[in-house]
Amino acid sequence: MDQREIIQKAVKGKFKGHQTLNAKVPLRYPAALERQYKGITDAYMRIVNQVASEHLPKIKEAAAAEKASAPRADGINDLMATIQSVFSVMGEDLEKRLDEFNIYAKLKELSELTTKLSIRQWKRVVSETLGLDIFDDYYSGQFYQEMLDYWVSQNVGLIKTIPQSTLGEMREIVYEGYRNGRTTTAILKEIQRTYSVNKKHARLIARDQMAKLNADLTKRQQTDAGVEEYKWSDSRDGRVRPRHKHLNGKTFRWDDPPVVDTKTGRRAHPGEDYQCRCVALPVFNISTLNIPANPKK
Ligand SMILES: [Zn+2]
Repeated sequence: MDQREIIQKAVKGKFKGHQTLNAKVPLRYPAALERQYKGITDAYMRIVNQVASEHLPKIKEAAAAEKASAPRADGINDLMATIQSVFSVMGEDLEKRLDEFNIYAKLKELSELTTKLSIRQWKRVVSETLGLDIFDDYYSGQFYQEMLDYWVSQNVGLIKTIPQSTLGEMREIVYEGYRNGRTTTAILKEIQRTYSVNKKHARLIARDQMAKLNADLTKRQQTDAGVEEYKWSDSRDGRVRPRHKHLNGKTFRWDDPPVVDTKTGRRAHPGEDYQCRCVALPVFNISTLNIPANPKK
C-alpha cells in the first residue's frame, strides 16, 4: 500500500459510506493580519507626512516673506525656486527614511505569519474532520517559498512607490497653488487631502493583498492534499456583496471557479475577487484524498 492508500483506508470510517465529507470546523479569514498589514501601510505613509511637516515651514516662510515685500518682478520666481529646492531635499530625505523602514522585511515577516496561521487552521480542520495529524514539517521549507517570494515582491512593488508619488502630488499642489495666488491655508488643506487619499489607497491594497495571499495558501494546501472541491463560505459581516452571498454554502471545483461577476462573466475562487473576505472550506473526497499525514494511533 502506498501513502495514499494507507490514508484512504484509515479515514474510510469517517465518511460513513459517503463519497465526500465536509470540514467539521470552519476556516477563518485572517482579519487580525489584515489589520497588521494596514498598520504597516499607515506607518509607511506617515513618513511622508513627517517629512512634509518638517520641511514645509521653509516654504511657508518664503511665501510669507514674498507677500510682505514690495512687489518685485522676480519675487514669485524666488518662491518657485525655493519650492523646487525644498521638495528636492524632501525627496532625498523621504527616500532615506523609506529605506530605513524596510517595507520588504516587514511584508516578508507578515507573509510568514499568515502562512503559519493558515497551516494551523488547515491542520485543525484535517485533525477534527479526518482524525489525521499532518506531518509537522510538511509545509516548511520549499512548499510555499516560491509563492511567498512572489507575493512579497509584488506587494513591495505595489506599496513602495506610493509615498514618493504622494510627495510629487504635494509638490504640484504647492507649486500651482502659489503660482495661482492661493492662500497657504488652502494649499495645506489640499496637501492633507492628497495624503489621506493615498493613505486610503495603500490600505485598500493591504486588504486586497491579504485576501489574495490567504486564498493562494488555501488553494495550494487543499489541492496538494487531493481536495478537488470546496464550499464557498462568506465572511458573514455586513459587507458581503450579494453575489458572494449567493455563492455561500455552494460547492465548487478548484479547477473551475464560479462566476463572481454576472455582467462580465469573471470567475474567481473565494478571496480572489476584489476586496473579498470569503473562504473556501474543503470538501474531502475519499477517492482523491492524499493527505500528507500519519494516521492517529
Ligand atoms: Zn467574498
